[in-house]
Formats: sequence, C-alpha cells, structure tokens
Amino acid sequence: MIILKGQRVFDDIAIGSIAIYNPSLNNFKQQSNSNFKNELLRFQTAQQAAIEDLKKLYNKAYQAVGEKYAAIFEVQQMMLEDLDFVESIEALISEQNLSAEKAVNIADENFSALFESMDDSYMQARSQDVHDICSKLLFFLADKRNLLADFSSPVILVANDLSPSEIMQLDKTKVLGFITQLGSPNSHATILARALGLPFVVAVDNLMFNATNNMLAIIDGFTGNIYLAPDEKTLNVMTNKMHALQQEKLTLTKLKGKKAITKAGKEIKIFANIGSTLDLPSTLENDAEGIGLFRSEFLYLGEKSFPTEEQQFIAYKTVAKAMYGKPVIIRTLDIGSDKSLPYFNLPPEINPALGYRAIRICLQQPEIFKIQLRAILRASAFGNISIMFPMINSVEELKSSKAIVENVKVSLQQENIPFSSNIKIGTMIETPAAAIISDDLAKEVDFFSIGTNDLTQYTLAIDRQNKNLSPFFTPYHKAVLKLIELTVKNAHKNGIPVGICGELSADTKLTTKFLELGVDELSVSPNCILHLRNKIRSLD
Ligand code: PEP
Ligand code: MG
Repeated sequence: MIILKGQRVFDDIAIGSIAIYNPSLNNFKQQSNSNFKNELLRFQTAQQAAIEDLKKLYNKAYQAVGEKYAAIFEVQQMMLEDLDFVESIEALISEQNLSAEKAVNIADENFSALFESMDDSYMQARSQDVHDICSKLLFFLADKRNLLADFSSPVILVANDLSPSEIMQLDKTKVLGFITQLGSPNSHATILARALGLPFVVAVDNLMFNATNNMLAIIDGFTGNIYLAPDEKTLNVMTNKMHALQQEKLTLTKLKGKKAITKAGKEIKIFANIGSTLDLPSTLENDAEGIGLFRSEFLYLGEKSFPTEEQQFIAYKTVAKAMYGKPVIIRTLDIGSDKSLPYFNLPPEINPALGYRAIRICLQQPEIFKIQLRAILRASAFGNISIMFPMINSVEELKSSKAIVENVKVSLQQENIPFSSNIKIGTMIETPAAAIISDDLAKEVDFFSIGTNDLTQYTLAIDRQNKNLSPFFTPYHKAVLKLIELTVKNAHKNGIPVGICGELSADTKLTTKFLELGVDELSVSPNCILHLRNKIRSLD
C-alpha cells in the first residue's frame, strides 16, 4: 500500500479502480505532411469541431454553474479563433510542411511561453488555456472519442491536472472521484469540480509516478489521504466508513424541514458558510436556516480586477433571492494576510496576519468599500440581507464603518435606488480585543458572529497557516472558550443575538457547551448542517 497526501477539495470517500487520464500532446506519429492542402483542411476541420465543442461546453457550464464560470470557454473559443494563433499554425503546415499535430504542438509551446512571460498574473494563467485548446485540437485531429466520458464502469480519475473544459466533459455517472498531482483548491477547474460534488484531492506529490491504470485506490476527501493498492485492513476500514457515510447521509435527509432543537426544547439556528453562489445548491440541499457567513472576498479572489458594483450586486441578489427571506449575512471584504489579490498591490509584510487586512483596508480605501456596500445595499431590496464587518478591534472602527454605510445609503436615496433602510449591521468578534470590549461593541450593532479561526490564532499567538504549529492550535484552550463565553454574555446583556461562524461551530464536542452558553446560531459548511442538526436533536 502507498499512502499519499494532498489537499482536500470536496469531503467524501471514494473507492474504485484508477483510470489515468493522460492526453499527451506528443502522442502522434506523423511529424511532416506530404500534401499541405490536405493538412490545412485537417487542421481547419479540427478547429471547427473544437469551436463547436467549446460552445457546447459553454452552454453546459452556463446551466450547471452560471455565466461567470462558463466564461472561460468563451475565452478559449476566442483564442482558438485568434488570427495570430491560427495563422502561425497554418504557416507551419504550408511553409514548413509539418503535420497539423506537430504544428499545433509547436504553437502550444510558443503561445503558452508567450503568456507565461507576461507580467500580469491573469495573462500568465492564460497559458493553461493555450494547453487546453491545443489538447482539444489534437483530440479532434486524432478523431478520438471523448476519453473522459468513455469509461465502461465508474472510475477514480487520476490526472496530472484537469482543465475546466476537461472537468465539464466528464460524465459524472462514470466518475467516483478525482485526484490530481497539480492543482490548487482555488483554481477555476477545482471550483467547477467542487460544484459536481465528488470527492476530490489535489496537489498530491508523486501521484503520477505511483498510480497505474486499474489499480485499486481510496480517496479520503476528509483528510486528503490517498491510498493506492490499499491493504486489506485499510480497505475494510474505509469501506465501512464509506458505507456508514452513505447510510448517515440517507438518515440525515429525513431531518430536512426539522428544527435544531434539543429534547428539552432548547433551539439553536444552523446557518451555512458560503464563498460564492456556487455554494447555493448545497446550502439549499442541506436545508440551511440562513447564511451566517458569506465570505465575499471569494468574489474578488476569482477575478482579474476588482469586481464591479454590478457583478457584486448580481451575486448578492442571487443569494438573497435563493434564500427566500431567510437571513443572509454578507461579510464585507476580508482580504489581506493569506488572501491577497494579485491585482491589488498589497505591500509585502513581515507579519501579514497582523497586517494590513480586512476592515483596515476598507477604512483606509473607502472607494473600494463603498462599491461593495452599494452592491450589498442594492441587493438588500431582494431579500433578508445583513452586513457584517471583519476584524473589528474598536468602537471607533465600528463607528467609522457604520458612517460609511450611512453615507452610501444617502447616495442611493438621492439616486432613487431601492434598498432595505433598516438593514441590520453586525460585527465579527475575532480578536481578543473585540471579545474583551464586546460589551461596548454590542451597543453599536444588531448582532455578533464569533470567528473562532482568527480568535484562536490571535488569542494563542499561533499562525493558523503554519502547519508545523497545528498541534498547538487548539480552540479548546480555556482562554479561547472564556472569550467566547464573555462575548455571548455581553451580546445577551445588550439584547443582541450572537452566532459562531468559525470552524469550531461544527465541532460536535462543543455543541452542548454552546447550547449551555445560549449561542443563538451556528454557521457551518453546508455539508455539516444536517449532521449538526442530528446531534442537537439527540441531546437532552
Ligand atoms: C474566522 O476567523 O473564524 C472566520 C470565520 O473568518 P475566516 O476563517 O474567513 O478568517
Ligand atoms: Mg476570520
């Protein structure tokens, strides 16, 4: 048995045979042509077929995950029709008598190198699209069938990397899960794959060296562990775990429409944490009572420049409408630290987690903040939206942030643009300073949400990003729990509700404690909702 470790993208377990997807660009024999006119025709036919294929993929992606993510196929189509690109291939065929495959291969190398050499990170990333369209051309030149929809029985797909168009070509019923050697949890391809809801682990070192076709493999999407040729004991343990999960999922669906209420009648709301509209299907599927944390920065992280007011408005409105009047708490931009935007030149910092981030940026650059607030306020006319500020440390910061909201409200009023005038404003409590002065902060807001990820990091002075420190990073530390307790007490003393939206909220070892404290709401990843509801309903 070989155990490899990667980064989790989607939590689930899959057990099955490996199919290696390896569309080698050099997988052709013919290097030159004997009749350039025929060869040009072959290329042009493949180009047309590739364009038609991209149009289909665009429509498929548009329906599955929306326009924003489908746009990648439109970009690829434009590249495939680009005159420089096409003429360079045609010149190689007609002037150097190369085969269409060889010409495409050379164009792939030249154009991807060109994009890679550019300064702009968005343009650099386009080199991946060049590879993608060239693979597609080679695919049609070889007149292959779709390798990715052609498995006779469901497989675990192993690839060096998967492009957005390859993900969209997958026949979901034929794939149990994916593992890739490259990739990152935030790439376009990963976002599309996550929306398919299959176990997925990326960035698995040495994967292609160790995996072979038909080898038995296990993906543990919860831990990021990959077991190749598992021994009998591991296979039994993981099979049992998978069956238990399937059974649990079935049982849990019966809890839809029910409350998270203990046997003694103590109720707590369970909301969802989301990062984009892509998380809406699982939020609705798992019957969230609201959205407790919309990490709005993911809208910014997926773009090549600041998303416009209109782009943001559409995203916020989509979420508000989908939730049908249930609460939707949109956290304002929380960039900086580990969430840097390539197009927003944040200065390099020695201690980024203690640096220029979140509300500090928004207060110093109100023009960015105001665009987001306009979008949120406009969307508030379409549902039950609240605004929440991240990384607040003082009453002054809170007052300044609220003043900017008021200022934006006045502009909207003057422009006769509708918004919810009594929109609720809340703050995250994620620094010890905020927790300690929560009595003062509570007087300024309509609700609190405790961010235990950062509260733990700042209370214990342990960088949450540093994997070497993970044994020390414990939100169970008495100091963290005391700060949570203090915050809840101060919220209730001032008559406002308090939720928890850090990872700790889903930790069922603390559910009883949170109920005892009187926490009003727990906001968790959509996949954890029914599990947590089940736990609460089982308590006395
Ligand atoms: C937190 O800090 O607990 C939180 C919910 O915010 P994030 O994880 O996005 O920093
Ligand atoms: Mg935080």
